Amino acid sequence: MISPPDGALVSGASRSAEQHSLAHEILNSTNLAQKFPMFKVEDDPMAVWEPRAGILFPERAIQTHLELAAKLGVLLQFNNPVRKWEPFSKGVRVFTDANSYTANHLVLSPGAWMNSLLPARRLPLTVERQVLYWFKPVSHMESFAPDRFPIFIRQYASDRFFYGFPDLGDGVKVAFHHQGGRIDPDASSQEVAPHEIDEIRNVLSEYLPDANGDLLSTAVCKYTNTPDEHFILDYHPEFPQIVVASPCSGHGFKFSPVIGEIIAEMVHGKRPQFDLDLFKLSRFSP
Ligand SMILES: Cc1cc2nc3c(=O)[nH]c(=O)nc-3n(C[C@H](O)[C@H](O)[C@H](O)COP(=O)(O)OP(=O)(O)OC[C@H]3O[C@@H](n4cnc5c(N)ncnc54)[C@H](O)[C@@H]3O)c2cc1C
Repeated sequence: MISPPDGALVSGASRSAEQHSLAHEILNSTNLAQKFPMFKVEDDPMAVWEPRAGILFPERAIQTHLELAAKLGVLLQFNNPVRKWEPFSKGVRVFTDANSYTANHLVLSPGAWMNSLLPARRLPLTVERQVLYWFKPVSHMESFAPDRFPIFIRQYASDRFFYGFPDLGDGVKVAFHHQGGRIDPDASSQEVAPHEIDEIRNVLSEYLPDANGDLLSTAVCKYTNTPDEHFILDYHPEFPQIVVASPCSGHGFKFSPVIGEIIAEMVHGKRPQFDLDLFKLSRFSP
């Protein structure tokens, strides 16, 4: 995590690492330049380095979750979107184009489509376009290998962040954290505009110049954001048989297993093992 010394990133990450006794090193700009010479450090940043940091491969993680669920008897349905739901005294009925299902509980977690399944609440969620880029390094290819180059996020202005991953064989992956335009989730284009490529190239030339080679591939993804960037994890205020779950704002994936555990506890009427006040729906006015 790299930021100006007074930036939120380094101060937050070091506070959190200390509080939870996580192995970490604080690097000043000289140490950072020595340890990871690929970063240009002329603006005198600080960094928090975690030796245990790693990468999750979400496709594999999701596949594993689905396989474990199926083994436990979960009926998985794909390409069968929920169109609406109706509560009744002891449960809820869910309608898709082809079928309807009744259940004691419903967990609503449709990501960017939350407002289409909760229209009456009009949650202040915004869906933001996020482009991912894979670049071929211009030089020092070996310095971008996973044993040499860290997973990083750099705060380069007060509210500007970009992040990246080592070259795992398909190029150095980089992207902005936020800074995308607001989009309609149903009309999101995979096309990447030349001005978007220019924006990321400008940042690379400033902070990671050796990664600024040929653009190998791109992907377009969506963040679903709450105004405070905290998740939503709560019972529906009128229908307690419904749990509303949005581990959103671009930082929810790593929490999937624990959020799954919490939702299971909520659905079974158990008191969740964590304080969930931060994630309550009541923080947004109806
Ligand atoms: C580019 C990018 C980078 C990210 N990087 C990180 C990271 O480094 N670390 C991290 O922790 N998080 C990261 N995230 C965030 C993470 O991906 C999200 O927080 C997480 O996926 C949110 O989970 P979710 O279940 O709320 O929504 P989603 O993962 O979007 O899942 C919602 C699912 O609901 C389905 N659905 C929607 N509508 C319906 C319907 N009507 N009926 C049935 N199904 C429906 C969708 O098809 C989808 O499968 C990143 C996100 C992006 C876009």
